[in-house]
Amino acid sequence: MSDSCLFCRIVRGEIPARIVREDDHTVAFRDIDPKAPTHVLVIPRVHVASLGEARDAELVGRVMLAAAQIAESEGLTEGGYRTVINTGADAGQTVHHLHVHLLGGRKLNWPPG
Ligand code: AMP
Ligand code: ZN
Repeated sequence: MSDSCLFCRIVRGEIPARIVREDDHTVAFRDIDPKAPTHVLVIPRVHVASLGEARDAELVGRVMLAAAQIAESEGLTEGGYRTVINTGADAGQTVHHLHVHLLGGRKLNWPPG
């Protein structure tokens, strides 16, 4: 846990968030600035700065499978959805706590910008 990390503060309940799913290892909440009708962030409860810092394969898998479960509960399975992990400056990572973006509910362009 990091005192100053925004997403650690959401995990601790110090900052409000629209939580959509929680389990012992992950928390998922709606992005504050959604880029699609469904835009959920899935994070590990423990502080991991980025995918590049991740060492726990099971935890990364749990985060990804939580995203797939939310996609199902959000009704995205049939139409499809995208999962994105931005890592580092060139990818535009702004919050340095590992998070998977789950995006869906509209046609998504490829490649991303
Ligand atoms: P990234 O640019 O990949 O690091 O993504 C960070 C995401 O966190 C952005 O999509 C932001 O809109 C989102 N975000 C920032 N602050 C909050 C917050 N307090 N609650 C929910 N989402 C947030
Ligand atoms: Zn953190």
